[in-house]
Amino acid sequence: MIIRPKAFFRGVRLAGHKFPAGAAERLPALPEVFIPLAQHAGAPALPVVEAGQSVRRGERIAAAQGAVSADVHASIAGTVTGIVTRPDGRGNTAQFIAIAAGETQEDAFLPPLSDPSKEEILQRIAACGIVGMGGAGFPSHVKLAPPVPVDTLILNGAECEPYLTCDDALMQKKTREVLRGARYMMQALGVEKLLIAIERNKPEAIAAFDAAGYDVVPLKKQYPMGAEKQLIYCCTGRKVPLGKLPAHAGVIVQNVATAFAVYEAVELGKPLIERIVTVTGGGIAQPKNLVCPVGAPLSALAAACGGEHDAVKLVAGGPMTGAALTGTDAVVTKTTGGFLFLTARETDTEDPTPCINCGKCADVCPMKLMPMQTAFYTNAKEYENAAKYSGVLACIECGACSYICPARRPLAQSIKTAKAELRRKP
Ligand code: SF4
Ligand code: SF4
Repeated sequence: MIIRPKAFFRGVRLAGHKFPAGAAERLPALPEVFIPLAQHAGAPALPVVEAGQSVRRGERIAAAQGAVSADVHASIAGTVTGIVTRPDGRGNTAQFIAIAAGETQEDAFLPPLSDPSKEEILQRIAACGIVGMGGAGFPSHVKLAPPVPVDTLILNGAECEPYLTCDDALMQKKTREVLRGARYMMQALGVEKLLIAIERNKPEAIAAFDAAGYDVVPLKKQYPMGAEKQLIYCCTGRKVPLGKLPAHAGVIVQNVATAFAVYEAVELGKPLIERIVTVTGGGIAQPKNLVCPVGAPLSALAAACGGEHDAVKLVAGGPMTGAALTGTDAVVTKTTGGFLFLTARETDTEDPTPCINCGKCADVCPMKLMPMQTAFYTNAKEYENAAKYSGVLACIECGACSYICPARRPLAQSIKTAKAELRRKP
């Protein structure tokens, strides 16, 4: 059934830049992968393999550390060549488990579960290292055990970031599997109500879920529609209290790719070792959605798309919330929705100019904040005042303020800095 959404009145309208999603192609076999130990919210995983050890595909290679963390598994079979420190593509270094591909690709999946209990589902999700695949990377077994009872699961298929079509491809081609994963998550949560939220620019996906007999909420194309608080309001009319979790509004939101991973974990025993990644932008020869193993180097994805030309900026993720890359050292992680190869025409390379007090950044902020004020306090290193007077901690880091600013002020960047400094304080 089609459910009419509520409207929120801020945010921005963005050009889509999306190519037709279609079916995702599998990335050709790789000689080597570099699997990051920190690719989820919480503590990095600790390696449980050493150099020279043989591993099969799906075997656990690093263990979760602490309550909020996730196991990491081998995405190809072969030999561990080392626990290496290498560039992460974002100007920093990080730790990776390097695996050289073996001649044969043997799997080490868990036994499939039939008719699992709630506890078995949660254990399986944890054992398969599943995290939120929409970008946050929060371990799913933790999110599916909320501190307060909830009554609704929302599947997030909004995909409101321009350029990305990986979720659309999944929803069109794996509708049944996504729904099966959602049913397991509903069982884990003990809820009966499922809403599938999809922006209206994905008519095939909306039709596929509607035809399957589920409640679909076709959302207005408005950024940041896919942000949890905005999504919950548009789908249910409920507001998440400031400083509280979506669960306090009785709702858990999970990305559609996470639902698919849960299906694979329960019914196939397959850990989260691969995902669909959109490779696009004016600087790539043939934009594609590719099914990639975690740890696949960006250079291999670019080669599978005919190579890059004239790209002046590389981005991991979408253009609004993604991270600018310093080179092609980046690899696919559990949360990588896409890589963008942007040309000069697609990027704004002009320097910022002084604020003209137009107020546009405040007008579009979906959290009703005053981004220009936050930037002012952040530049003066007055982080407490940023929290007190401009509500910086409520920022969802959507980037709408930076996008709209006629002076090209890096507002979202200032806000992230202020939040990081405030978090650092005892
Ligand atoms: S202040 Fe935060 S929430 Fe508001 S528009 Fe900017 S990035 Fe988005
Ligand atoms: S949109 Fe830019 S120029 Fe306008 S008030 Fe905000 S920071 Fe200043």
